Amino acid sequence: MNTETLDVKSSQAEKLKNWLKDCYRSARKSNHPSTHNAALLIKNEQVILSGLNILPPGVKFKKERFQGKAKHTYLNHAERDLLYNAARKGISTKNLTMVMPWLPCVPCANAIITAGIKKLVIHKQMVERTDEKWREELENALQLMREADIEIVAYDGLVGEKAYMHSTEWEA
Ligand SMILES: [Zn+2]
Repeated sequence: MNTETLDVKSSQAEKLKNWLKDCYRSARKSNHPSTHNAALLIKNEQVILSGLNILPPGVKFKKERFQGKAKHTYLNHAERDLLYNAARKGISTKNLTMVMPWLPCVPCANAIITAGIKKLVIHKQMVERTDEKWREELENALQLMREADIEIVAYDGLVGEKAYMHSTEWEA
């Protein structure tokens, strides 16, 4: 997906690169069959919590929950998994930063806004690999986050970790 028209500011800050590296490493713990994704919660410049695209804890791994449309409803996306983990552990997410290589979908953007996340760090090269069919959804999610005054920054450059999406591994 071409990111030019999304008008997200980019950065090459080492700090963002390191967080994204950390995020891709965490993503390997995902048990999703075709895409591994993680999200990190940052407080005072430190990673304090992570989330994965994964079934809720205790929910059984059944093949039919990972197929077709079911995977969009049974699995938590990494962003929401992270926010739910924070709720479970009693960690306030207000005014904190989230790191997540992709752009969120609309339900995740809504969750990010309502949870009070102030800044979102994404990875330009990952967004560029996203299928064009998601453009409308991602543009709508971006618009919602902008209305809610969430700062969005895209790290521009490779971070030196392997990523796994749409059943393909690539050097992120
Ligand atoms: Zn989502």
